[in-house]
Amino acid sequence: MRDCYEILGVDRSADADSIKKAYRKLAMQYHPDKNPGNAEAEEKFKEAASAYEILSNPEKKAQYDRFGWQAFQNGGGGRGGAGAGFQDMEDIFSSFGDIFGDFFGGGMSSSQRSRSRTGPRRGSDLRYMTEITLKDVIEGAEKEIEFETDDNCDVCNGSGVEKGKQPQSCNTCGGQGQVRVTQGFFQMLSTCPTCQGRGSIVKDPCKPCKGRGRVKQDRKIKITIPPGVDNGTRLRVSGEGEGGFRGGEAGDLFVEVRVKEDSRFEREGDHLYGRIDPDYVQLLLGAEVEAETVTGKLKVKIPKGAQVGEQIRVAGEGVPGLRSGRRGDLYVTLGVHFPEKLTKDEERLLKEIAEKRGIGLSEGSRISFWGRKK
Ligand SMILES: [Zn+2]
Ligand SMILES: [Zn+2]
Repeated sequence: MRDCYEILGVDRSADADSIKKAYRKLAMQYHPDKNPGNAEAEEKFKEAASAYEILSNPEKKAQYDRFGWQAFQNGGGGRGGAGAGFQDMEDIFSSFGDIFGDFFGGGMSSSQRSRSRTGPRRGSDLRYMTEITLKDVIEGAEKEIEFETDDNCDVCNGSGVEKGKQPQSCNTCGGQGQVRVTQGFFQMLSTCPTCQGRGSIVKDPCKPCKGRGRVKQDRKIKITIPPGVDNGTRLRVSGEGEGGFRGGEAGDLFVEVRVKEDSRFEREGDHLYGRIDPDYVQLLLGAEVEAETVTGKLKVKIPKGAQVGEQIRVAGEGVPGLRSGRRGDLYVTLGVHFPEKLTKDEERLLKEIAEKRGIGLSEGSRISFWGRKK
C-alpha cells in the first residue's frame, strides 16, 4: 500500500485541518456519484478513505508514524485481523459520511442508499485497544472487556415504528429518501431533510428506541489473548461489533494489543534480552544463580572465568511464537558488580592475590590501551 501522506498529498507535518481538507478534496474528486462505473476512481476513493481513517485518528496516526502500514496489517503476523483499509463503500460513508455532508448530503448514491436504508445491513466493525503485560504475552491471557455499542431494536426490528403501526411515506421525497438539489454546476441527490433519508415518517415511534430503530447496548465479553502476540497485533472477535441493521449481520470487533514495557527485558522477535550483574567473585569462580523473570525464577549458570559482556543463552525462555507456540530463547548479558567498600580482611586477601599474580598497584605499573570497543 502507498504511504498515507503520499496518498493524501500532504506533508508529514500537516495538521489535522489540512489532512481533512486534503481528504475532502480527493473524496470529492473520486466520489462514486461523479464517477459512475469507474473502477479506478473507486479504488482511489477507497485508498484515500483508508489513509484518512488513520491520519484523522491521533492514536492511529502516532502508530502509523512509527510503524507504517505494518501497525495495521495483522500486527506481528497475528491471527485474525483484516488488513487495514476499506473494502466496502458503505463502510466509508458510515465512517466519514459527515465529511460529505454539506456537499453530497450523506454521500451515497441513490441505489446504495435505498439498499442500506430499508434492507438489512451489516453493523460496523469496532475497535478496542487493550494493554497487556509481558507475562500475558508468554502465558496468554483472558481479558474481560466492556464497551457500549449500537444494536438493532428488536421490538420494531429497526423500523423505529411502534408495533402494529405502519410508517407513512414521506411527502417531500415521495418515499425516495432523497431530493434533487442544484449546487454550483452539479445537480445532486441530497438527503431528504424531512425524513432524514428514511423515505418514511414515523408518526408512532417505537418506545424502547424512541423511533431510532437502534438501541445502546452495554457489552461485556471475555477475549482470549493467545501467547506470542506483539504490539499492534489485532485479534478479530467475529460478530461482536456493532449490531446489524434490520436483521443484518453484526460487525466484528477488533482488539488491538499493546504490550506494557518491562524495563528488564527487551524483545526481538521471539527472543528476549536481559542483563544480570553478578558479583565479581561469582564471575571469577563460576556460580549458579537464580533470577526473577516475568513468569517465575530462572537458574542461570555462570561459567568459571566468564567475561563481562559475555552472553549466555537460556534456551526456551523467550516468547512463544504466535503460530508455532515454540518459545524463543533468553539471552543474558553478563555485567559485573564490585563492592563499593572492602573489609580490612578482603583488602588484605586481594593484596595477597595481586602480589601472587605479579599485578602492580603502585606508580609505574604498566597497562596497555585498546580500541574503545572490546
Ligand atoms: Zn424500536
Ligand atoms: Zn423524505
